[in-house]
Amino acid sequence: MALADILARMRAAERAVGRAEGSVRLIAVSKVQPAERVEAVLTEGHRVFGENYVQEAAAKWPAWRDRFGPLELHMIGPLQTNKAKVAVDLFDAIHTLDRPSLAARLAGLQQARGALPQLFVQVNTGAEPQKAGVLPADLPGFLKDCRAMDLAPVGLMCIPPEDQDPAPHFAALARMAADHGLSGLSMGMSGDFETAIAHGATHVRVGSAIFGARAYPAR
Ligand SMILES: *Cc1c(COP(=O)(O)O)cnc(C)c1O
Repeated sequence: MALADILARMRAAERAVGRAEGSVRLIAVSKVQPAERVEAVLTEGHRVFGENYVQEAAAKWPAWRDRFGPLELHMIGPLQTNKAKVAVDLFDAIHTLDRPSLAARLAGLQQARGALPQLFVQVNTGAEPQKAGVLPADLPGFLKDCRAMDLAPVGLMCIPPEDQDPAPHFAALARMAADHGLSGLSMGMSGDFETAIAHGATHVRVGSAIFGARAYPAR
């Protein structure tokens, strides 16, 4: 089964660079996948999933939580400020903190409820105009602003440009995280998770390699 395969490849990638086996978290990205594919992976015992759209996730996961028990849900898609409240109630981690207005909204929610999901700051390592994320040059100031609002991001996340070697982007993200004392590194997808692990990823986000091709493209 694909899940076992991916886990074995992750263990091999960890061993290859002298990292502890099992130290990298596999986020199974289930966006737009048919329910039976997700349920097959749940039945195999996997409990860490990623979703891109708040509404889609809110429609699917409460019932699976009731049926399969505790599981860990990661928000990996762009988060609209007006969906932040639903998102913090549903997700255990948000990987896409990428702008001051969202930080301010999350800070307000933290004050109101006393806690927040784990936060990762998305960095636009390729400085692509169409892509979300804080520009590398703006990261120090953004992190400072977050901390001033009492937000404590645990790591950084990136999606390298599709047409480039991802390795330099992963290396750059790892350097930025180290510079700021952040231990989490959310990087690596179906095509490049082994490279990401070699560069220190703590969380890889793998969708199609586990579930098969998505039936319709992400918006
Ligand atoms: C869809 C998605 C993934 C998974 O992509 P695959 O190539 O199917 O593994 C990972 N990260 C983000 C941010 C995504 O939107």
